[in-house]
Amino acid sequence: MSTAPVADQHRLLEVQALDTRAAQIAHQRAKHPAHQTVAELSSRLADVESAVVTSRTAVSDLRRELTKAEQDVEQVRSRANRDQARLDAGANAKDAQALTSELEALARRQAALEEVELEVMERLEAHETALADLTSARDDILEQQQAAAAELEKVLAELDEQAAQVVAEREQRAAGLDAGLVALYDRVRAQQGGVGVAALRGRRCEGCRLELNPSDVEHIKAAPEEQVVRCEECSRILVRGADAPR
Ligand SMILES: [Zn+2]
Repeated sequence: MSTAPVADQHRLLEVQALDTRAAQIAHQRAKHPAHQTVAELSSRLADVESAVVTSRTAVSDLRRELTKAEQDVEQVRSRANRDQARLDAGANAKDAQALTSELEALARRQAALEEVELEVMERLEAHETALADLTSARDDILEQQQAAAAELEKVLAELDEQAAQVVAEREQRAAGLDAGLVALYDRVRAQQGGVGVAALRGRRCEGCRLELNPSDVEHIKAAPEEQVVRCEECSRILVRGADAPR
């Protein structure tokens, strides 16, 4: 049977209230909805950034394809120009006929290649528009994500400040408490979900919220004031008379 000064038993309830508050702040810190907002925006940002990379690759591939198509057209055009120059310079009838038919073939070839060039240009234009849209969406999400991250940081800083106040107050309230009582409190608190001490109100333990049986209550009430008593149900330290004026 351990004993502790009655005042220490009562003060332990205040320490418990501060420990409970600290646990609530820690819970709020861990479960704050701003974490979720930041995580969702970060995930959307990663998706859209990857889409931007894909789109940029497509655009650069198409730019290369367009350069190639332009070179193809240019090659046929310069060949046709050379043929035309030879024809204009006055070729013999046989050569003239060959050159004329080659020029016709080159004209058809050029038309076909210009069609390819045009088609590539159209695709490039569509992809450039898509890339611009994606880039602007990325910038929007980035801005939202940064704002949400700043908001989260602010919320956490506020909670940290509250936690620091609670720690300071707890330190002050716990100073000089009976060491045996504190050791018991810490042990029970670790076993009982963070609550090591509770008030006895009437017959009810405020720790487990159960009504104790009358003989236990009689036993507890009959025990010397300085004796540290425990709840029969949850084994928490019970503080008597916390509800009565002292
Ligand atoms: Zn209890």
